[in-house]
Amino acid sequence: MNRWGIPDWLEKEVKERDKTCVYCGIPMTEQMPRRGPRKAVATWEHIINDASIVTRENITRCCAACNSSKGTKTLADWLRSSYCNKRGISKDTVAQVVREALRVNA
Ligand SMILES: [Zn+2]
Repeated sequence: MNRWGIPDWLEKEVKERDKTCVYCGIPMTEQMPRRGPRKAVATWEHIINDASIVTRENITRCCAACNSSKGTKTLADWLRSSYCNKRGISKDTVAQVVREALRVNA
């Protein structure tokens, strides 16, 4: 169990699946760089902002920039934000796991 309450097996599985940001698609780095931009650091993300949903469908990894932009917004709201607009992030460009979440929770 890591400090976000994610069991080891799930952590491993998601790390192997989500090598690029599930939202913007950039390659992510594991370590916080000593200097330089930290936007590409991998962070844990709950697609639905509910820490009690610890499933392979809801736990993903995204870059620090997307994570801080999304914050507490719902996925659907966030996809309409100027951050997503500017970067061309939409329901059609996000990773499979996110598209699936949109479909199920629509
Ligand atoms: Zn991102």
